Amino acid sequence: MRTVLISGAGVGGPTLAYWLARAGFQPTVVERARGQRSSGNPVDVRGPALPVAEQMGVVPALREAATTVRAMRLIDSRGRRGVRLPMPSGRSAAGTAEIEVPRADLATILYAAARDHAEFVFDDTITAMSPDPGGVDVTFERGRPRRFDLVVGADGLHSTVRRLAFGPERDFVRHLGVYVATTPLGEPVDHPGEALMYNTPGRLISVHPSRGDALLAFIFRGAFRPDLDHRDTAAHKRVLLSAYGKDRSWRVPAFLDRVRASDDLYFDGVSRVVLPGWSRGRSTLLGDAAASVSLFGDGSSMAIAGAHTLAGALRESDDPAVALRRYEAEHRRRTDAKGRAARFAAALIVPGTRPGIALRNAAARVALHGRTAA
Ligand SMILES: Cc1cc2nc3c(=O)[nH]c(=O)nc-3n(C[C@H](O)[C@H](O)[C@H](O)COP(=O)(O)OP(=O)(O)OC[C@H]3O[C@@H](n4cnc5c(N)ncnc54)[C@H](O)[C@@H]3O)c2cc1C
Repeated sequence: MRTVLISGAGVGGPTLAYWLARAGFQPTVVERARGQRSSGNPVDVRGPALPVAEQMGVVPALREAATTVRAMRLIDSRGRRGVRLPMPSGRSAAGTAEIEVPRADLATILYAAARDHAEFVFDDTITAMSPDPGGVDVTFERGRPRRFDLVVGADGLHSTVRRLAFGPERDFVRHLGVYVATTPLGEPVDHPGEALMYNTPGRLISVHPSRGDALLAFIFRGAFRPDLDHRDTAAHKRVLLSAYGKDRSWRVPAFLDRVRASDDLYFDGVSRVVLPGWSRGRSTLLGDAAASVSLFGDGSSMAIAGAHTLAGALRESDDPAVALRRYEAEHRRRTDAKGRAARFAAALIVPGTRPGIALRNAAARVALHGRTAA
């Protein structure tokens, strides 16, 4: 087995391409976007992703792109600063501290590490896959049809490979009752070390500093909308503005103006992907497509660690079925734990009522043993 088609050049796709190339495979990555996407909030490279980043030699680049945020600060409706929650500060065995980096920079750095070792095709997507015991015949929207020994779906929550190999999204994607949207604030802030978090019942806004700018994130409760197209930005803006529209507190109206003017809005339902198995014949899934809970499940770190595990399993066994089983057994141990914690995390970050917010804040104070800075 030599040729591997990877759908998606986000976080997991380039990482997998890098490790497959090092193991002697010929990876091809097809990405729907025209180039690297710019949007997205800061994400953490931590836990099992850290040693993978170290071995790829990308830690210095990640450090350079890292945000300066060391803590989150809860604030009230007049902008007064309350509880300060230090960010976790885990380290790898080699001593590298976990790194918070804007998602787009992470994807760009991983792509830079992989691009000389793999074929990258932007602005295209798989349209059909015909598997047989020896490989998969693939057709594309733009490129000519090709045959590969294996196809990997690293194409995110709304994975095309998953739909083609396993069936429609509604069978596997469980909405967790929360939506997330992010957009650049477009100006620097005077709190480079702290992300501000402002809760109202069922809603959160955070202002997250990021090297000379800041990112606005809106996280809010909302029922599943089956008719919402995940690529329809105008519809996303309508949903977001109607969730926050009547709120006149703090700087909410100004932030909503940013949303109205934004041409770089990330928006998605926070969802858990649940599949009984990640592989079908000569196709398998990685990252959000397989299991992650993007916002609350360390989606980026799980995609990086999963890519390394998958490449290692394929290197070690000539039989793809054996390799894919080994990959899933090893990596599921990590993702299952994250998935179970997701609902709780959602309730904690956006309590539905004012007493719920007060209780959460009090619990944070207790957990910090009164270490709240004035
Ligand atoms: C633009 C963007 C912004 C994000 N912002 C946030 C955020 O602010 N907060 C957060 O918690 N999580 C965010 N996420 C999700 C988070 O980045 C993921 O949990 C994590 O990156 C998982 O990595 P992945 O490789 O599985 O998927 P992703 O990093 O999501 O990468 C998937 C890639 O596949 C591409 N793709 C999708 N469909 C196709 C197709 N049919 N053919 C080819 N390519 C395809 C996408 O363009 C993307 O580049 C964002 C994802 C994206 C794509």
